[in-house]
Amino acid sequence: MKLLIATRNKGKRHEFESLLAPVGEIEFHDLRDWPHPVSEVDEDGVTFEHNAAKKALEVSLESGVSTLADDSGLCVDALDGAPGVFSARYAGLPGNDENNNAKLVRELSDVPEAERTARYVAVLTLCLVPGELQSRALSNLGATLGDLPELNYATFSEDQPTRHGDRLVFCRRAACEGRIILEPRGDGGFGYDPYFLIPQWNLTLAEVPLDTKNEISHRAKATREVVALLRS
Ligand code: IMP
Repeated sequence: MKLLIATRNKGKRHEFESLLAPVGEIEFHDLRDWPHPVSEVDEDGVTFEHNAAKKALEVSLESGVSTLADDSGLCVDALDGAPGVFSARYAGLPGNDENNNAKLVRELSDVPEAERTARYVAVLTLCLVPGELQSRALSNLGATLGDLPELNYATFSEDQPTRHGDRLVFCRRAACEGRIILEPRGDGGFGYDPYFLIPQWNLTLAEVPLDTKNEISHRAKATREVVALLRS
């Protein structure tokens, strides 16, 4: 069973591949090793669900195989959920971690620490063509393809699996809770990690070992839920 991971990021591909290994019998690909060029997808949605579904469906339609796509970002309560879907380009295009973090610190400089609660959110969308993976997912979801509503990006959520023609499209959302600090700590991770504190450990995500991050991360949690739906 082929599964094309809609990413050009080597780290992400390996993270997904190792987390999805328990599903068994999957032949993994990503956009770099796929034999045909696949067009860039414009992530112009206002929700993580919209962007992940659009990426999964467009890549599946173009490649002809089942795909996995994700969208993720940082949501800060005191900023009404910003930067959210704009996390990668919070300080403008082209996206730059240093500028994004500088803007985050600026925006939160007057907010007391206890109110700087935040979470990383990840949404993973699967678009499955007819076959073994789709049958397993339908059975685990307790659904029949013909009874599912057509995919609508605006209303797509983990509460309702959908279809596009003979493809099954569903998603899972997960979060990793933390608090934003104003001085960076640690040199691991990427993006906002040096400013993202896990309060119960008093460590930022840039200070914990990668293995630990990969256990507690938003992406790992969402992927584990997807694994449960793909097992026979
Ligand atoms: P994407 O889902 O790969 O497009 O990521 C969106 C953006 O969210 C990234 O560029 C980062 O700014 C931020 N982000 C998502 N996940 C993480 C994480 O685990 N650590 C740090 N930043 C993250």
